[in-house]
Amino acid sequence: MNSKYRCPACGAESFEVTAHVTQDWKIDCNGTFLESLNECVEVTHYPDENDIWDCADCGFSAVGREFRNQPEGQKGATT
Ligand SMILES: [Zn+2]
Repeated sequence: MNSKYRCPACGAESFEVTAHVTQDWKIDCNGTFLESLNECVEVTHYPDENDIWDCADCGFSAVGREFRNQPEGQKGATT
């Protein structure tokens, strides 16, 4: 089965991206952050092809769509 995404520079198939999540905090009487109570309550934005992705292997950095693994013959197709 073909991978959907692949690093165009080195061919690696894992990437470092940014998700937006919410978390619960404990704050003090002035509203100042004390500690976070969990890692993630809800994901408000999943990484998509418009975000900047970094290759986990070589560090190549580009928007996610640049990592799309296009089958031969379909290069240049846009969505
Ligand atoms: Zn790479």
